[in-house]
Amino acid sequence: MNRATDVLVIGGGATGTGIARDLALRGVDVTLCERGGLAAGTTGRSHGVLHSGARYADFDPDGARECIAENRILKDIAGACIDDTGGLFVQLDGDDPDYFDEKLAGCREQGIDATVLSGADAREAVPELSERTERVIRVPDGVIYPSRLVAATAASAREHGARILPDTPVTDLLCEDGAVVGARIGGDGGEEEIYADHVVNAAGAWAEELAAQAGVEVTMRPISGVMVAVDHAGIEPVLNRCRPPSDGDIVVPHGSQAVLGTTSVEVDDPDDYDTDREEIDRMVSECAAMVPALEEDEISRAYWGVRPLYAPDEAERGESRSISRGFFLLDHSRDGVDGFTSIVGGKLTTHRRMAEAVTDQIADELGVSGACRTDEERLPGHDDPEKLDALVVEFGADSPADRDVTGA
Ligand SMILES: Cc1cc2nc3c(=O)[nH]c(=O)nc-3n(C[C@H](O)[C@H](O)[C@H](O)COP(=O)(O)OP(=O)(O)OC[C@H]3O[C@@H](n4cnc5c(N)ncnc54)[C@H](O)[C@@H]3O)c2cc1C
Repeated sequence: MNRATDVLVIGGGATGTGIARDLALRGVDVTLCERGGLAAGTTGRSHGVLHSGARYADFDPDGARECIAENRILKDIAGACIDDTGGLFVQLDGDDPDYFDEKLAGCREQGIDATVLSGADAREAVPELSERTERVIRVPDGVIYPSRLVAATAASAREHGARILPDTPVTDLLCEDGAVVGARIGGDGGEEEIYADHVVNAAGAWAEELAAQAGVEVTMRPISGVMVAVDHAGIEPVLNRCRPPSDGDIVVPHGSQAVLGTTSVEVDDPDDYDTDREEIDRMVSECAAMVPALEEDEISRAYWGVRPLYAPDEAERGESRSISRGFFLLDHSRDGVDGFTSIVGGKLTTHRRMAEAVTDQIADELGVSGACRTDEERLPGHDDPEKLDALVVEFGADSPADRDVTGA
């Protein structure tokens, strides 16, 4: 049986579900296909920091401002998909004090609340911090539970008429007369064709292989990173080492666990790459510089994710990690293929803004005039963690990133 929809979104991570929600809230008929459970890609395998922008404040003012704006919106609309833990940027002895000062100045310039605590005051607030702590900057970082966020976002889209189809891989894009007109899908229901006025490629690190089905080049540079969850209760804020971004500089509190990360290793295939035990050990030892007790903790699970980075941007960045990763909206009519848009790059924290940008672009083309409302309508289940976790199960969105919290 064939179906028709106004917009077909391919990819059920934070970006794709965010797009489906925004379109549905503006009254557009939308269908989303995800090859696995929702959040099965990078979204459910991320670190889950709700960035305040402080990480980028000293070298990327635009990225920092985007983060703090989205941080405030998500804290308002996403309820129990978020834990408003706060965050600390921790300067240890030997870390460059100028870097700390530049970060602080950047935060203040970009409107990010930033307070300095002495090492002694910081250790009073977080007793497990190392005795090597010289001073910290307190910022409004937080924790995202990606499975809950994606499931609630999908539920919101569905409440507004979207069809959400997990376990539905797109096996081919349908092209006619220089335009993408739909997709062939597989899955348990057998093969089917879905026709659409517009198709959005939100396949993250897999965007390149999907776009190639329409003869369009979207060159991705997938970069993997490991996260290590250890049994460790009692750390309240997100801890960031206050030094230029590098391996093992973040500790994310999860109630009875802490999630340590991460690394940055270029890979050829986002479905098939090395997962090296050495990376796990290195995460523990690097993060233990901030919290020495982590060395003694039991490892509960380790998982890797692959960043959906856009190669032309990465080429400009060179080897430096000190450039923020923005998002890229690629209107393929510029490549001679109509009815087809790709969205790549970005962050979990900024997924809603990415979705708004895509929706604004195709709303024009579809003649839809409604304004974006995703920044003001709260997500279903925002005040009810049990309901959120039931949605996680329903959409098959359980993920290694927050399995300890959702219990799924
Ligand atoms: C190690 C690591 C740590 C990170 N930490 C953070 C952090 O702390 N804070 C933050 O803000 N961001 C973080 N990020 C970045 C963030 O996780 C990603 O930018 C974001 O989750 C990407 O979401 P997405 O929806 O674009 O991609 P994805 O979540 O990968 O979604 C794409 C989906 O498309 C599906 N798909 C692919 N091909 C097909 C097909 N043919 N048919 C149907 N479906 C298909 C995939 O299965 C996948 O689910 C991190 C990333 C990594 C790798």
